[in-house]
Amino acid sequence: MSGDNQSFDPDSADGLAYPEQENPGREAKARRGADTEMDIFDGIRGAGGGPVEPVRLGPEDLFCFSCHRDVPCWNACCRGADITLTPGDILRLSTHFGIAPAEFLERHTVPAIWEQADLPVAKLRMGASLEEGGGDGKGDCPFLAGDEGCGVYAERPVTCRYYPLGLASVKMKGDEEKNSFHFLVKEDHCKGHGLDKLQSISQYRDEQGLKNYDKINQGWIDILMKMASWKTLGGPQGKEIAAQTKQMFFLVSTNPPGFRQFVLETKFLDTYSVDPEFVERIKTDDELLTCLGFDWLKNVMFNEPTIAMKEAVLQEAVAKARGDLGAS
Ligand code: SF4
Ligand code: SF4
Repeated sequence: MSGDNQSFDPDSADGLAYPEQENPGREAKARRGADTEMDIFDGIRGAGGGPVEPVRLGPEDLFCFSCHRDVPCWNACCRGADITLTPGDILRLSTHFGIAPAEFLERHTVPAIWEQADLPVAKLRMGASLEEGGGDGKGDCPFLAGDEGCGVYAERPVTCRYYPLGLASVKMKGDEEKNSFHFLVKEDHCKGHGLDKLQSISQYRDEQGLKNYDKINQGWIDILMKMASWKTLGGPQGKEIAAQTKQMFFLVSTNPPGFRQFVLETKFLDTYSVDPEFVERIKTDDELLTCLGFDWLKNVMFNEPTIAMKEAVLQEAVAKARGDLGAS
C-alpha cells in the first residue's frame, strides 16, 4: 500500500490555476482551465458532441427548461446515452432490484475507463439500436419503460437527474476550497430548452433530489477530478497509479460487499487506525463504508491525511525506509 503513496499535490500546480477574467495576459492558462472543465463534464455524461454554453451558473442563476411527457423529444435522451454510474447510483439501483451490486454490475453495466483520469468506472449498458442489431449500445436504456418514460425514476442515476446541466469543480491556486458551478448543455435532440419554465439552478437541483446524493459520491468525484488534473499535467511526478490501486478504486466505487470483505478479512484494520464503533457501523452501513474506502484511497493515491496508520505500523515503515537508505 505504501508503495503507491505519492506526495505530489496537483492542486498547487501552476497550470491548474483558473485565472480571473480581468487578469490580463493569461489567455493560455484560461484555455487550459476551460479544458479541465470540459473534461469534468465529459465524466458526468458523454454528450455526443452537444454544445456546452460557456457560462458559469451559480445557485441563484436562472435558466429556461422543461421536460414532460408532451415534449416532441420524449425519451430521446434515454437512447444511446453515455452514462457513468456513481457509487450511489449502483447502491440504490441494486437495492431497487433486490440484487447484490456485483449482480447489478454484471446485468446492467459495462466496464469502462474514464479516460480523463485513467480510472475504471461502470457505465450503464444501453441496448442495441433497431437499425444496427447486435450490441452497438445505441439503443434504449435498459430501464426505459416505453411511453411511461424512466422505469426507475425514483432511483434514476445522478447523470439523468443533472441533465441538461453539467457540473464542474475547479480549485484555483492558493484557494482553500474548490469552486463548483454548473453550466448548460444544449444537445440538438433536446427540445426542453425552448420551453418556458424559468427556474434557478438550486430550484432545479432540489426538484431533481440531487442534494441527497452528495455525501456518498463526493470522494469518488474528488478522486476522478484530481486524477484528471494530474493527467493534464502529464501524470503524478511522471508516475502511473498502480494497477492494483485502480482495481481497488473500482471495488470501492461499485461493490461495497466486496470492499467490506477486504476491510474485515485482510490486515486493513491492523494497519489503519479506525475507531471500533465505526468498524461496527461499516459492517452494515454501505454508504459509510464507501466513504471510508475513498478516504483510504485518497491517502494511498495522494498521501492525503484522510486516514491514519497505526503508530506501530508507521514506526515499522519508517525503520524499514531508513534501513533501505542505509541509515542507522
Ligand atoms: S435511467 Fe431512466 S432517465 Fe436515465 S437514461 Fe435510463 S430510462 Fe432514461
Ligand atoms: S431530450 Fe430533453 S426534453 Fe426531451 S425527454 Fe430528454 S431531457 Fe426531456
